[in-house]
Order: sequence, then structure tokens, then C-alpha cells
Amino acid sequence: MINFKDKKIVVIGMGRSGISVARLLNNLGGHVFLSDSKNASELKSEIRDLKNENIELETGGHTEKILRNTDLIILSPGVPSDTDLLKVASGKNIPVLSEVEIAYQLLKSPIIAVTGTNGKTTTTTLIGEILKSSGYKTEVAGNIGNPLSNLVNKTDKDNLIVAEISSFQLENIDKFKPWISLILNITPDHLNRHKDLEGYIEAKKKIFMNQEKEDFLVLNADDPVVSRMAEEAKCKVLFFSRKKELKEGIFVKGNEIISILNGLPSFKYPVASLKIPGPHNLENALASIAVALLCKVDFDVLIKVISEFTGVEHRLELVDEVKGVRFINDSKATNVDSALKALESFNKPIILIAGGRDKGSPYSPLGSLVKEKVKALVLLGEAKDKIKSELGNYTKVYMVGDLKEAVKTSFSSAEEGDIVLLSPACSSYDMFDNYEERGKEFKRLVMQIARGYI
Ligand code: ADP
Repeated sequence: MINFKDKKIVVIGMGRSGISVARLLNNLGGHVFLSDSKNASELKSEIRDLKNENIELETGGHTEKILRNTDLIILSPGVPSDTDLLKVASGKNIPVLSEVEIAYQLLKSPIIAVTGTNGKTTTTTLIGEILKSSGYKTEVAGNIGNPLSNLVNKTDKDNLIVAEISSFQLENIDKFKPWISLILNITPDHLNRHKDLEGYIEAKKKIFMNQEKEDFLVLNADDPVVSRMAEEAKCKVLFFSRKKELKEGIFVKGNEIISILNGLPSFKYPVASLKIPGPHNLENALASIAVALLCKVDFDVLIKVISEFTGVEHRLELVDEVKGVRFINDSKATNVDSALKALESFNKPIILIAGGRDKGSPYSPLGSLVKEKVKALVLLGEAKDKIKSELGNYTKVYMVGDLKEAVKTSFSSAEEGDIVLLSPACSSYDMFDNYEERGKEFKRLVMQIARGYI
């Protein structure tokens, strides 16, 4: 464990994890300086929250102060690591670490860490449910909205932590070593932030970089980039596959999920009994089952939990059915692959609401599914022209100004049996604070449609 007492520590970013780690290290006797690029007026509630703490604050930009005799910089996941000030910091040999790394150094519980481009929250939540139901003292944390630092004073050796970890959090780890790590899939995302796909893959790989013989790495055998990572692992690797039978691992054969694991009884479960929709959610279930088996969860408990799990809000969430038209909220589909998975999940004609802030990846991979399943594309936000130019030839397109117009247009062009799907393939930041707000607004608008108000 590092000793933080009397150390000069700079935390960059006043988000949830930045505040959590700042508080933690302040309580451990560190001299903490918290800096954020947002103005004080945008950070009112955070500033109020920290009023009684002995933490120095800086708002409206990061100044040279962050380099004053600093022993350690902790970088929030939202802040790029290649800013000029951080380059100077690395020139001065000031270590730059992530909140996840600091929390790891102070935590005593084994960690099950979940990463991947898509499916992290769903899988983390499902693993959490399984372990809680089987009697483990389980905490679900990380990128899911509960920073790992929050757990330092609440957990001990006998807890088990299930942590959702993003590529940004992995960029600045050092000793972080999960007991079990999972990489669900890797497709282009965040290329506006990581310089290229290679950089993004390298960040994801860090999740297992410190794992040793007694640890486990769970990998998706169907994802070529992910499955190749097995060659670089020093720990035991366990594969899951939705598409092929494996000699050892968790896979789908016919209509059944089957496990073959050295020395453990085989688990069998009918795919049709899962409530979470779509092939991608089957993959999330396979990954979760892998962890359950490694944790020796009782089969009856496992079957009960996976049969009852209906998923997480804003992920292919059924909002309502109005005059035979089903409205699905998939606001969390903030990249092209997750929108693709949403289109794969339905066998009815789809009216797709897409657009928002572009993240630098092409939309063309959606082309054949749009041609096959999408009756109309309803496009909004900054990316609408780019999406229209890449997908407009495959189906009818409506260009709209906001989400309200999108919902109205979708409903008036839908017929009984159709699906109106909000699966934007873009981030929400051009029009909303985050994807939750976008999803909630969509649900509110659907309720208004259902009541005949709009
Ligand atoms: P994350 O936390 O990685 O963003 P979520 O579970 O929140 O993942 O799901 C995000 C989006 O990705 C949703 O639109 C969801 O339907 C889709 N999705 C979920 N699991 C997968 C998967 N295994 N592969 C591809 N897309 C997925």
C-alpha cells in the first residue's frame, strides 16, 4: 500500500470518481488539490459538497498550479492524458494514475473486472446479481456510477467486488490486478479520444497485464481481436462462444448453453429461457456464467437469476406499446456496434431514431441491416448529415430537429407491428447532458404519445 500521508496530490476532474478519490486521500492525510476545466457555476453542487473538506479547489481550467511540488496526479477518465500540462508532468516524472489504480492499492477484496466496448454495464450488473443471490458479500462498482474509491472504507477481504472498467480508466493503471478479468468485445469506439484502434486495444489489454497464474481471464472466442489476447496472458484463460463449440469453455450448442470446464460439473441451460433480448445479450450471459462457475455458484441459484434478469435501463428497454407499435429505448447505444446489435435483436420492421454527436467511426457497417430491417431512418443531432450520406441510400430518411419531432415522426410513419427504436449510434452530448437524460426524455415523449398529448 502506498502511503499518501503528507503527499501533495492533484486530482484532475471533479466528476464522481475524482471527488471520491479526493475525499479518500484527504482523509488519509494527503494534501489534495482538485482541478476542473468547468466553471464554478457549472460545478455548484460539487463545490457545495466539498465545502467542509480540507481540499483546495481550482475551476475554469487547469493551471500551472497542478505541477507545484506535486507527488502524484490522479486523472479522471473524462480527461485526455495527452494534454500539454500532463506532458510537462511526465517530463518532470510526476506519476499520473487513475482513480481505479489508487482504489485498488487501498482495497483488500478480490476484484472481478469487466471491460469491452459494449455490454459492460449489463454484464457487471448480471454478475453482481448472481453473486449476491448466491450469498457472496458483493459490491458492484466502477464505471457503473459507484467509484471504487467509495468502497475502500466499506469492504474487507471477505467481500467480492464486481467492477465495470472503461478503457479510459485502464490507460493510467500500474499495479491493478483483478482476480478475474473479462473482455467482452472490441469494436471501434472512442476513436475521437484514443488515437487509433491500436491505442484502444492496448488500453483494454491492461486489464490483464498484471494477472498471474492463480488469476483468470475470460475472453470472447468469437471476437478475433479479443481471442488473440490469450497469447499474451500469464493467467488462466477461459473462453466463451455464441457461435462455435469449444473443447473447454462456455458455449452454445443447438438451443443450449453448455459449459465444459476441467474438473467442474457441466452446466446446461436452454437459450430460450433468457429474458434479455438479442445475440449480444446471450454473449453477456455466457460471460456472466463463466464467472459464476469460477466462483462455484450453485447451479439452482444461477438458473434462477439468469432466468429472471431483464436487463438494465436504457439498454433495449421496452418502454410501451401504443396502437401495436413497440417503443424501445436503447439510448445507451452510443456507438455503431451497439446500434448494430440492437438491429440484430428484432425480427419486426424497425423505425430507427439515430444521431447525436459523432465519435469518428463510420456508420456504413449498419448498411446491410438497415436495408434489410429499417423501414425509415429518423435522424437528428450533429451527425445526421454524415449518417444520411452513408446510409441514406438504403431506406427512407426523415431529418428532424429534436427528439420530440423524432418520436412524432416515427410514430406517424409506423404501422401496427412495427418497432420504434431509439438506438442513436452516437453520444448524446450535442443535445443532452448524458445518455440517461436522452433515454428519460424519450420515455417521457412516448408516454405523451400513449396519452394522445402529442
Ligand atoms: P457498456 O456499459 O459497455 O456501455 P451496456 O451494457 O451499457 O454496455 O450496453 C450498451 C449498449 O450496447 C446497449 O445499447 C446494449 O444494447 C448494447 N450491448 C450490450 N451488450 C452488448 C454486447 N455484448 N455486444 C454489443 N452490444 C452490446
